Amino acid sequence: MSEEANPFESLQEQIDDAAAYLDVDDDILERLKHPERVLELNLSVDMDDGSRRRFEAFRSQFNGDRGPYKGGIRYHPNVSRDEVKALSGWMVYKCAVVDIPYGGGKGGIVIDPKEHSAAELERVTRSFAKELRPLIGEDRDIPAPDVNTGQREMNWIKDTYEKLEHTTAPGVVTGKAISSGGSEGRVEATGRSTMLTAREAFDYLDKEIEGATVAVQGYGNAGSVAARLLEDIGADVVAVSDSSGAVYDESGLDAVAVKEFKRDTGSVTGYEDAAEELSNEELLTLDVDLLIPAALENAIDGDLAEDVRADVVVEAANGPLTPDADDVLTERDVYVLPDILANAGGVTVSYFEWVQNRQRFYWTEERVNDELERVITEAFDTLTDAYESHDLPNFRTAAYVVALQRVVDAYTDNGNWP
Ligand code: NAD
Repeated sequence: MSEEANPFESLQEQIDDAAAYLDVDDDILERLKHPERVLELNLSVDMDDGSRRRFEAFRSQFNGDRGPYKGGIRYHPNVSRDEVKALSGWMVYKCAVVDIPYGGGKGGIVIDPKEHSAAELERVTRSFAKELRPLIGEDRDIPAPDVNTGQREMNWIKDTYEKLEHTTAPGVVTGKAISSGGSEGRVEATGRSTMLTAREAFDYLDKEIEGATVAVQGYGNAGSVAARLLEDIGADVVAVSDSSGAVYDESGLDAVAVKEFKRDTGSVTGYEDAAEELSNEELLTLDVDLLIPAALENAIDGDLAEDVRADVVVEAANGPLTPDADDVLTERDVYVLPDILANAGGVTVSYFEWVQNRQRFYWTEERVNDELERVITEAFDTLTDAYESHDLPNFRTAAYVVALQRVVDAYTDNGNWP
């Protein structure tokens, strides 16, 4: 993994690349390349052994021109201010490309959750939620899960907020458990939009998804669901990895069985029905039809991109390719379907969850999945229209052209009141 690429600079470069095809004033662009505000915190939390520890935490509200700030909260030892800023910016353009009425935000805590008990994580999460209370709210800023957070953490945040506000406000966070106001289909939504994007892309490129070989880097929520759903539409998942390594079988793995193995043992490595174990780097350069990076940022840099042998890359993770990698893959005619479309299922079903919370009326899973399919296929068509009509170099630039224009329009229509 490249150490050099700063994700915030990658984001700014992606916006500049798109702006080159649009008529946007430089001063507006300057605003849309920087967060409106970033909260930096030091949480002081009691540990089980009686000691007290400090945890750095951030919440970036990047842009609210199209609606409340929206974005996940990440728990990871490498969380940094710039990473959170970048992730919050990607949320702005992600919500815009699928045309849901949100701006973008993101949060993170510098913590390795594996080192902490559930009780410690609850105290850390509730401490963060207490500090976030003045900023968040159903109409202000709506957190969601990200790496190493899930329904449990969202329920703690919701509960802390509601107790402090003496109200019920289930729409203050999304990604909750169904029993706390979560939506059917939310857990699967990111992997589902990854599958839908791959399906649409293969169709657009006149390639067969049935029988296509697939490698998935990162076998967590996004990656494992994408693998299973791709398998359901006939693709052949041949390799998957997690932070401990990769497993490969050219005759195909059983996506569900590998997931169960990982759940039981903590890792995909050692899965007995795989023919071979590979390094993470080897997985990224396998000769497959479809590569899905579904782990973290900067998984593929310019050097590694020279060795990528997949025909199509669909980004389930946020920012898995550095701008250099993007340039190399564009030059080598490898089609990359960008994160802001491919993993937008998570935020889209979060939006459905929030709509259901506001209406206190809950949908069936079938309705959620149908509405998600409509949103992703419409966004895909808008993206490919822009790709063709502006004669753009790649699908990422097309996605940013569509999204940036929508954000610029909203900002211009709102006017600039201090
Ligand atoms: P997760 O924690 O469930 O899974 C991440 C997986 O990546 C884990 O299996 C981990 O072992 C693996 N991993 C970490 N480093 C790796 C490496 N170097 N090589 C191979 N595997 C590695 O997280 P997630 O929710 O699936 O998120 C994954 C990515 O998808 C992130 O970029 C996240 O921002 C993005 N995303 C997730 C959602 C969502 O709803 N879960 C929505 C949008 C985007």
